[in-house]
Amino acid sequence: MGRRKSKRKAPTKKRAGPLDSQFTCPFCNHERSCEVDMDRQRNTGTISCRVCLEDFQTTITYLSEAIDVYSDWIDACESANK
Ligand SMILES: [Zn+2]
Repeated sequence: MGRRKSKRKAPTKKRAGPLDSQFTCPFCNHERSCEVDMDRQRNTGTISCRVCLEDFQTTITYLSEAIDVYSDWIDACESANK
């Protein structure tokens, strides 16, 4: 039985890989056109769509992940549409 030992610093959540930071754009609806950039030093998360060039910035914490930036964006879009 070859069980692989994985030493990870953050064992909290499982990671789905690099595709995890690409999301469907809420503006143009292109799949995986939005990429998240986590600036851990400035505590700023930026997401932008490379198709329609919409972008959004939010404050992140050390716990934040790309999906959190994306869901903040979705929330902001929804509240702007009300
Ligand atoms: Zn877009």
